Amino acid sequence: MASSPGGSSAYRLRRRQPAGTAGPRIRPLSSAEIASYDHLAPDLAARVRVVRLPMIPGRYVGITLGRFVCLDRNLPPNGASHLLAHELTHARQWAELGVVGFLARYLGGFGRGVVRHRRWHPAYRDIELEQEARAQADAWTQRRGGVGA
Ligand SMILES: [Zn+2]
Repeated sequence: MASSPGGSSAYRLRRRQPAGTAGPRIRPLSSAEIASYDHLAPDLAARVRVVRLPMIPGRYVGITLGRFVCLDRNLPPNGASHLLAHELTHARQWAELGVVGFLARYLGGFGRGVVRHRRWHPAYRDIELEQEARAQADAWTQRRGGVGA
């Protein structure tokens, strides 16, 4: 066996990570997660990738772009995360609406909210796709007996 240049640079990257951010930068959902997040079809869940970003602008801790769920933290892959349940609803919305459909609805809703509220955060809260993601994640948490992180 031989180590490739790519392998050794990946090792150096891992060594430089601050505490609490160990683990792969991008990963598929575990089988426990695919089984747990039952508001997402298993075939779509199997294509999702969880990406850890060093930071996400503003007060946000997660953003989903298509099937890529980007988070500012590592989550244990045990299928017990309200945050991941929320973001996976967005992954389903992306899959159902497509890029153009998702962005039109998301940004359209955000624009209407900004006109209505003149403030960013209430405008974000008002976006229909966000309301659906919150409702789906809350319902998912309820089904699990109210336990979620
Ligand atoms: Zn959201």
